[in-house]
Amino acid sequence: MFSHTFLLNQLWKIQHEEGYLSDKAIRLLSRQTGRSWVDLEGVISFYHFFRRKPAGRFLIFLNNSILSEFAGFPEVLKAFQESTGAHLNQTDPTDTFTLQMASCIGLSDVEPAALINWRPFINLTPEKVHHLIHQLKSGTDIDDLADRPLSDAYPNDEENKRLMIRPYQEGMAISKLIRMSPDEVIKEIMEAGLTGLGGAFFPTHLKWQSCRNQADPEKYIVCNADEGEPGTFKDRFLILKYPGLLLEGMITAGFAVGARQGVIYLRGEYQYLIPKIKDAIRHFKNEGWLGNDACGIPGFDFDIDLVIGAGAYICGEETALLESLEGHRGEPRPRVHYPTERGYLGKPTVVNNVETLCTAARILEQGFEPYLNTRHPDSPGTKLFSIAGDCLYPGIYEITWGITVGALLERCGAVDPYAIQISGPSGELIPASWKDRMLGLHDLRCGGSVMIYNRQRDLLQILQNYNRFFMQESCGVCTPCRAGNYMLSVQLRKMERGLASTEDVDKMNDWAKLMEYNSRCGLGQTAPKAIIQAAQRFPEIMDQHTRTKNAPFDLDLATSAYDRIINELR
Ligand code: SF4
Repeated sequence: MFSHTFLLNQLWKIQHEEGYLSDKAIRLLSRQTGRSWVDLEGVISFYHFFRRKPAGRFLIFLNNSILSEFAGFPEVLKAFQESTGAHLNQTDPTDTFTLQMASCIGLSDVEPAALINWRPFINLTPEKVHHLIHQLKSGTDIDDLADRPLSDAYPNDEENKRLMIRPYQEGMAISKLIRMSPDEVIKEIMEAGLTGLGGAFFPTHLKWQSCRNQADPEKYIVCNADEGEPGTFKDRFLILKYPGLLLEGMITAGFAVGARQGVIYLRGEYQYLIPKIKDAIRHFKNEGWLGNDACGIPGFDFDIDLVIGAGAYICGEETALLESLEGHRGEPRPRVHYPTERGYLGKPTVVNNVETLCTAARILEQGFEPYLNTRHPDSPGTKLFSIAGDCLYPGIYEITWGITVGALLERCGAVDPYAIQISGPSGELIPASWKDRMLGLHDLRCGGSVMIYNRQRDLLQILQNYNRFFMQESCGVCTPCRAGNYMLSVQLRKMERGLASTEDVDKMNDWAKLMEYNSRCGLGQTAPKAIIQAAQRFPEIMDQHTRTKNAPFDLDLATSAYDRIINELR
């Protein structure tokens, strides 16, 4: 029914079989696909996980997200280097271990963590690392050593288990489709008030209706399973626990808009979830829920394919994701058309994230009424939060919109909280003292990630970590983002060295405005947000790191960083 071959999957297949993408393999792929060598090189070089050189037998990805840093990443990295004999970004002399860095690997609740040959290893300590590497050297099967990331949420509030976390009854949602028209499905989603739960909160029914309205009969449903925002891991939970619910959401969307094909774009870091998804797809086909006359509905032919991303945060942006699906560099498209008008392969496409699709299936299963929120009508439904950082109970929480910041901190056992990052580094940095503010579409919006920092944490270190993340993940296609993030890094470094004045804070504000209004996509527009919010909401921290504008020049301070380097070289 669907014959497109996904370039990313082809590249992964070669890399898994041969260990890297050799010249010979690219030459062959060029002949098979009709794409030039230069074109393929351009694609391969865009993604962090594709390799043009052989790796060791064990490819180890560590991550330096801020939560990993605070949980002990430097010590864990040292242990990996000592026990493997490999330096960062290198392979050890015996070609056994390669150490690489990734931005965030979706294991923020169990940091420090690593992926070794794409299997998760969690809650690492230097001792654990030494033992693990010893075992690998001794020939123990890596699958016997790998951890199983938690699939359980923290259901400490009965009332809130009513939607997502409650047990899933397979096939319930799609069994309703046979008695409904596409318009009725869209109406049900509209009555519920479902919005995109990845952080954009665009009304889902409008997206579906727009796609349905297009005259072109070839339409697609794309599931964005590329959550890469540091601190986020709710897709991991949903796919581990309810892969079938996701498929039901995609089938529902496909039926509503008139699509024949769905594609799940899964982030490369979650490769250990592939068997879960493939098993579920196979099972759904056996049940007759996918394929021709899917769900017993005459004429409704719908299938689902799986594409694996390759380590590029920007591909979480929907148009970048579509570029990536088409086998290009994952650079966001200029906003000329909505994907519902011209999306995947130029065809009308709905792009929804995992949680939105799962929630759509839940709404269909139980009707829209339980989804409504009588106390806060503007913020219907519940929301999954990935909570991590300085709290006793990191994990997945399902909350009803309208919960206060104070109640949320209490529920997860926050310890001496000082600052909270809501929705990842591109979201909102707020003081923990904003206890009465509410999480909801009517107040603080949250795409899913909540990172908690206590009073011992260095806010400047946090901002520098975010800034490094954005510099690394910017696709570089537009100057405000490419240059702006670098310029912000210069100002932050000045602050770190005690050389910044209030004038530098003004400069950061100027760069932030320039980036916000002139960047092509959300990454560049939101990258300076946390820095600016820190300056506004944590003036005490900024004061510590800046001098007043006309303070006398301090030569010793200005040269202290160089003194340190010279001393180290002696
Ligand atoms: Fe790429 Fe940044 Fe421009 Fe987005 S804003 S298109 S990530 S350079």
